Amino acid sequence: MNYTNEVADIFKAIAADHDLQNGDLAVTSPLNGEVIAHVTMTKADEVEAIVQKSHTAFEQWRSFTAPRRGELLRLLGEELRTHKDALGRLVSIEAGKIPSEGLGEVQEMIDICDFAVGLSRQLYGLTIVSERPGHRMMENWHPLGVVGIISAFNFPVAVWSWNSALALVTGNSILWKPSEKTPLTAMACQAILKRALDKFGDAPDNLAQLIIGAGDVGNAMVENHNVALISATGSTHMGRIVGPKIAARFGKSILELGGNNAMIIAPSADLEMATNAAAFGAMGTAGQRCTSTRRLFVHDDVYDQIVPRIKSAYKSISVGNPLDGDNLVGPLIDKDAFDNMQASLSKAREQGANIQGGERHDTGDENAYYVRPAVAEISEHEGIVLQETFAPILYIMRYKELNDAITMQNSVGAGLSSAIFTLNLREAETFLSAMGSDCGIANVNIGTSGAEIGGAFGGEKETGGGRESGSDAWKAYMRRATNTINYSSDLPLAQGVSFDI
Ligand code: NAD
Repeated sequence: MNYTNEVADIFKAIAADHDLQNGDLAVTSPLNGEVIAHVTMTKADEVEAIVQKSHTAFEQWRSFTAPRRGELLRLLGEELRTHKDALGRLVSIEAGKIPSEGLGEVQEMIDICDFAVGLSRQLYGLTIVSERPGHRMMENWHPLGVVGIISAFNFPVAVWSWNSALALVTGNSILWKPSEKTPLTAMACQAILKRALDKFGDAPDNLAQLIIGAGDVGNAMVENHNVALISATGSTHMGRIVGPKIAARFGKSILELGGNNAMIIAPSADLEMATNAAAFGAMGTAGQRCTSTRRLFVHDDVYDQIVPRIKSAYKSISVGNPLDGDNLVGPLIDKDAFDNMQASLSKAREQGANIQGGERHDTGDENAYYVRPAVAEISEHEGIVLQETFAPILYIMRYKELNDAITMQNSVGAGLSSAIFTLNLREAETFLSAMGSDCGIANVNIGTSGAEIGGAFGGEKETGGGRESGSDAWKAYMRRATNTINYSSDLPLAQGVSFDI
């Protein structure tokens, strides 16, 4: 099947004014490996002027009241509800997700818009008692300026919305560089936002801009002093380049980087729940989620019960084009992802792993890369197991003492998501305590993958330390001013200083 016409139809519905045929960036659908569009890339030397426009928009937008800014997010949420099916379908075509995952991403966008509308009446600071008579202290939160968003291919639309909803409601302008592998969904989002902006009426021009391109274009944003905050989602490799550059100019950053997420299955675990969570967490989105389950620590007492169940779940799933039948595992994004997976499996074999799956699944499309998800039983927690391979490989290891499992779980660079399956209160609370998981997300009896809008999302260590989405993540998009007001008729100077005047 050729998806070019379908993309054109979706664009006719939501993004009419884009040229999809004459650009310099070829867009490929991982579903069948065919080129579905050619879009125009922004040049790195054009970024300065674009940032200037964003800055001008910010200077106007910051004076809109927060509830009025919230109205824009309400309108965006409505537009997303209207275009949910079309955008979800486009996510499937461009990123290869199964339909429920494509729609799920758009639902997350709707949810964060709702969250931002509520937030528009809650951007509160503290009032603080003063040590000086007749004085009052308080905190005021102000917008930052231009917020630059760099996003990864695997959540091509949701990550933008998590950032843009909070950035806009807190009074910033936004500039988005999506992955060069998924520009179409970004252009569609931009068109949907434009509809909301048209209905809103008087928002400044260039409040939300889009730039298309690869790392060089992202770098031009990263190095621009007028981009107050860079929220960058992608590999730890990218974060290692981008993070120091932002720090060098004293910019602010939210880094959402790689994960090497683990699940512990304790002796008291509900084995059916644990099996489902492990299989879903490891195979969902073909293992291409930052929160995908990659390592499984199974207690010796239940190892021989649970591992055969997981292996048979792996054998039961169908791999193939997700828009074609009930296939649960879609394609890897491209050949590089396939090659990386095979290289990791070779290393695991060299380390003595017993592997089921991992082979290429032939759909007849030479340039589409489907694989059978792999389960690798391995005795040592070392080597390739310590690295994130962005593909469906689940390394399974035994443990005897919970503390050993927690130590292994924590002894990797990344610190994004983690889970324990146990019905034992002591084990669950230990896992969640300061002596437990060192990840930004730690769950009990629910898997590692996915997250709800209401919580702050992000991870520690080499995952970058940033937080997005719910809770008080909005504070990262604002600056805090501490204000002291003297309503007395005295001006007591510090350290008892006084002047003869
Ligand atoms: P990637 O690092 O290859 O690219 C991510 C983005 O960074 C792209 O837009 C890319 O163009 C841009 N980029 C690359 N080099 C850059 C540079 N020098 N300067 C500025 N921008 C640059 O990642 P990917 O392959 O698209 O996505 C997969 C990775 O992202 C995985 O490691 C996954 O764990 C991670 N991820 C993390 C989260 C999270 O929230 N923690 C979410 C999704 C994906």
